[in-house]
This record gives sequence, C-alpha cells and structure tokens, in this order.
Amino acid sequence: MDLGIRGKRALVCASSKGLGLGCAAGLAEAGVDLVMNARGADALESAAEDLRARHGVRIVTVAADITTADGRAEVLEAAASPDILITNAGGPPPGNWSDWDRDDFIAALDANMLTPIALMKACLPAMMDRGWGRVVNITSQSVKAPIAALGLSNTARTGLTGYVAGTARQVAPSGVTINNLLPGIHATSRADSLDRGVAEAQGLSLEDARAQREKTIPARRYGTPEEFGAACAFLCSRHAGFIVGQNVLLDGGATNATI
Ligand code: NAP
Repeated sequence: MDLGIRGKRALVCASSKGLGLGCAAGLAEAGVDLVMNARGADALESAAEDLRARHGVRIVTVAADITTADGRAEVLEAAASPDILITNAGGPPPGNWSDWDRDDFIAALDANMLTPIALMKACLPAMMDRGWGRVVNITSQSVKAPIAALGLSNTARTGLTGYVAGTARQVAPSGVTINNLLPGIHATSRADSLDRGVAEAQGLSLEDARAQREKTIPARRYGTPEEFGAACAFLCSRHAGFIVGQNVLLDGGATNATI
C-alpha cells in the first residue's frame, strides 16, 4: 500500500534503538525524511546511516536528551516544524508503590507526560496552519491495564492519555490527528532489562524469564520493532485521517479485555 506521505518530514524522538527506531524505519520506508534523536551519538548515527542506505531518505541526527528543555530546543530547531511527530523517551524504572518519592514522580512525569506535551505544543500550530499533520505518542499497554511494578509509568502515561483525549479533538478540525500506540512487550533492550529484573528476583535464566512471559501472551511471542513501526507509519499515512484520539494496543492479545 502506498501510504501517501513520501516527501513529508518527521521528527522521531528517542529513535536510535527499539520501538522509536522501528517507527523511524517504517516512515523511512514510506519515503519520509527524518530528524532522528537519542542521547548516544554513535548508535544514533549508525541507525540513521543504515536507514539512509536502505531507503534513500534525508536524515538529520540530533544527539540530545529529549526530556530536557535544552535538548528539546536543539531537536525542534533541527526539525523545523515537522509534518509528523513521533514522541518517545525511555521508560521509568520498575519498583514497588512504597519506593517512590516526589522526585521519582517528577522525573517520570517530565519524561513520559510533560515532554510529549511540550513537543506537541511546539509542533501542532504549524501542522494546523498547513491543514495536515500526524502525531503518534509511544505510550504503553499500562494505560489500559496497570502493570503493578511500573507504577511510575502507569501514572505518567495515564496523564498523557487524558491530555491527548481532549487535545486530539481540538486539533482534528485542522486536519491534524493525534493518536497513541500502546506497546505490550516487544523484543527491545527495554524488554531485556525488565526480563533481567524478573530473572534476578526469581533465580531464573534470562531465557527462562522470557519463556515464562511469552506463555502469558496469546500470540506466544514478543512483538517486533518492525511490526510496531509499520503500525506507526500507517497511523501517519494519508489513509488514517479519520483515526482521531485513539489508543491502539499492540500486545499480542495480552490485555484481556473485550474492548
Ligand atoms: P529501548 O530499546 O531501550 O530504546 C530506547 C531508545 O530511546 C534508545 O534509542 C535510547 O537511546 C532513546 N532514549 C532513551 N531516553 C532518551 C532521552 N531521554 N532522550 C532521547 N532519547 C532517549 O526502549 P523501547 O523498548 O524501544 O521503549 C520505548 C518506550 O516504550 C519506553 O518508554 C518504554 O518504556 C515503552 N514501552 C516499551 C515496551 C517494550 O516491551 N519494549 C513495552 C511498553 C512500553 P539513548 O539511550 O542513546 O538515549
């Protein structure tokens, strides 16, 4: 399918690895020019070089922490009013409800709620002026069904979800859509680190911890960054203009709910 977005310009945050890179790859395959971002410059440039070679699109890289005001300013200057915005950042650490104090919540809110909100505030006006725009926020299945050990993530991402629910309806008349993609477990370094935590806590090997988790997923496997990126590219396509303010689960059926 031709996604109809060849030549558009996208900012893909936190995209040197994992789900962000999957989204960058999906958009590059559709012919979209990119600004890619992550903190580590080497992995970022090598990911960008691979996508340039495979898809022939223009890619600018900005090594910066997207959760800081300075980092965002640098990234937004390079992106210069993109047509497409994909927000993403690292997830908060796991723990127990009694572990977290105010500073932990502020850090999680900064990274996973206030950063995407600041990026949308910066990018939406030009999209609305042009009468076309796409925003996809990478959130988590934890907004549909809580993951107890990820209380910081549950809290911050639910706040973002509420903001998107209202804002998506305010910008839709201008031809701009905002949607959230909710990953269940995907095979990335984030999943490895969560599995390592389980392996240590339960005295298992990493492979056994993963096999144990796979059994809880109806699809009996982890998702891949490639299939996640393909879903993201579709939400950014010209075919997806009627999908507004939705929370799309990609979890292999793991969230046991009728709707
Ligand atoms: P990942 O494989 O660890 O990749 C994270 C990417 O984000 C890397 O490119 C990393 O590069 C970049 N990054 C992290 N913090 C950043 C920051 N402050 N500024 C700029 N770039 C930053 O993680 P992932 O699995 O793709 O997860 C992406 C998001 O989805 C996370 O919020 C995660 O919690 C959420 N999620 C993931 C899963 C899953 O199963 N994988 C499930 C649910 C939710 P640098 O380290 O070089 O900055």
